[in-house]
Amino acid sequence: MPVMGAAIEGISLVRVGDLTITKVEEQAPVIPIDLLIPSATGEPLWAERPYLHPDQLGDDDTFSLSISGYLIDGPGWRVLVDTCIGTENQYGDPASPFLNRLVAHGIATDSVDAVICTHAHLDHVGWNTVVHDGQRSPTFGRARYLLSDDEWESSRSGDASSSGNGDRAHITSSVTPIVEAGVADLVSGEHRVNDEIVLVPTPGHSPGHLSVFIESQGHRAVVTGDLVHHPVQFTHTDWYSDPDEDRGQATATRQDFLDRVTDEDVLVIGSHFAGAWHGHVRQIAGSPRFVPLAGR
Ligand SMILES: [Zn+2]
Repeated sequence: MPVMGAAIEGISLVRVGDLTITKVEEQAPVIPIDLLIPSATGEPLWAERPYLHPDQLGDDDTFSLSISGYLIDGPGWRVLVDTCIGTENQYGDPASPFLNRLVAHGIATDSVDAVICTHAHLDHVGWNTVVHDGQRSPTFGRARYLLSDDEWESSRSGDASSSGNGDRAHITSSVTPIVEAGVADLVSGEHRVNDEIVLVPTPGHSPGHLSVFIESQGHRAVVTGDLVHHPVQFTHTDWYSDPDEDRGQATATRQDFLDRVTDEDVLVIGSHFAGAWHGHVRQIAGSPRFVPLAGR
């Protein structure tokens, strides 16, 4: 699975069989790791340092949290996984480069066949919509938008109360208009998108969270969504992320995920991993650890 370089800032690619997966980054804020993962401190974190890539843990215990969407290009189709924060919502940046980077990379918004929302937190749905003539409308005009029915129900009912769902304004601006426009496909259980992509429920971070399993020509990959935010959570599955809505369920989901990928030939793409964003989970020194592929 060769990694190909790309000339546009914020764009990087990897091939999986016949498919090309393109990471389009919106932001990479540098934050203290324990701000996101409270248990990642002190001696237990120090013990993990030899196994972590410098991109994943700096000398000052900070790391870059990548906010990115992932394009998957297959034979005759194009799917986008998640749409970042956008320009407005809480933490939004009016100068968000996400859409400009897509266009600079030659990706017209109406060339996207489907947008997969791994979940409805604000950093995954922001560019779902844009404002036209004062009205919210789908950014990707030809696309079906795929979202778990559980996620939609919990989002609109207001059950979700975590910081991950922020002030909920993003549901009103970036999710509800998609459903009201009739372009949302609310999926349940495991859902096959096409010959190469299956959505698998991975709840805990949010009630209807989905991960994106990919297979082409015998090559396998997965876009994790937020079942992990940082590779250290493959080793310490109980090191929850602060925005995990059900921390016990999130830990169980990480353990189930490890059963599927550890020492398997599955390229793991960490949705929020910066720098070394794809690699494999291998049993090393008695524990599952993330082994990034070189290149960015
Ligand atoms: Zn996220």
